[in-house]
Amino acid sequence: MDIDGKALAGRIKRDLAKRVKEGIARSGREPQLAVILVGDDPSSVSYVAGKAKACVEVGIRNTTIRLPESITQDELIAEIERLNADPAVDGILVQLPLPRHIRKRQTLAHLDHRKDVDGFHPLNVAAMWQKLPCVEACTPRGIITMLLDNGIRIEGRHAVVVGRSSLVGYPVSKMLLDRNATVTVAHSHTPDLGAITRQADILVVAIGQPHLIKGDMVKEGCVVVDVGISRDPETGKYVGDVDYAEVAPKASYITPVPGGVGPMTIASLMQNTVDCYLDHIDPRTDDDRDIYTQGF
Ligand code: NDP
Repeated sequence: MDIDGKALAGRIKRDLAKRVKEGIARSGREPQLAVILVGDDPSSVSYVAGKAKACVEVGIRNTTIRLPESITQDELIAEIERLNADPAVDGILVQLPLPRHIRKRQTLAHLDHRKDVDGFHPLNVAAMWQKLPCVEACTPRGIITMLLDNGIRIEGRHAVVVGRSSLVGYPVSKMLLDRNATVTVAHSHTPDLGAITRQADILVVAIGQPHLIKGDMVKEGCVVVDVGISRDPETGKYVGDVDYAEVAPKASYITPVPGGVGPMTIASLMQNTVDCYLDHIDPRTDDDRDIYTQGF
């Protein structure tokens, strides 16, 4: 059975739109997401446009700041710090990838972590690993939301995550572990990948290798989450890391590409932005949150 990420993302955005209206009624101001786009890479331009469209649906004011490819790291950091200091900005997103001359980690560390809607700031990453309140990375958050929304049990099951990027593989493996799955993480050095993936009750694949996971690499009844997005050079269509035609007949649930994880990543970005906004207008006061908002 397909997990319809597009439909779930639509429901989440409608629910968020109600929460935004309530927030505006309480605070007298709308949420604002500032997106920094450096250069004019066509994929980045298209991702930013998708995020701006979602903001309109939810009632978030979107400000896209376009900066030239030639910008220096200091100039980019100055722009981030300007947005950090702007009380009308609730979320800041720096669209990746950045030009090669800019040091990504150093730059992202300058974000105010309370406005870090991508969940990439070191304080958010550290808080996630320590089970403290944090802004969770969007794609992993979207994956967990999809599993829970479909009533898929995580606790006690064997989850295999293929890929260990800081964007997807690492954080989703931690989130599955926190929900009491037994987690195996596979990567490019894993010998006999099929022997590992065949053990999975829940298989999350985030590698960027089109159709690498074949039918004989999954067990009957497995839940399959396909994060990969690549363009098929022949058809120009988007394809996942999982060979859908072979795997879907064996899977109890599977996320299609497109229409699975992709829309959920954007919905999670909207959730993170609204969460940051609501925290901004009405700060939480629990102890963990205090430690977190003050920094470690
Ligand atoms: P990265 O390139 O950062 O990481 C890829 C990971 O896959 C690495 O850990 C690598 O292992 C592993 N890997 C590569 N080849 C193999 C292989 N043959 N067998 C086992 N493991 C392998 O990718 P991302 O995590 O950023 O993205 C992965 C895919 O997900 C891409 O297609 C990307 O476009 C897509 N994506 C989709 C999103 C969405 O919203 N749908 C959001 C984010 C990403 P090693 O560590 O050993 O190098």
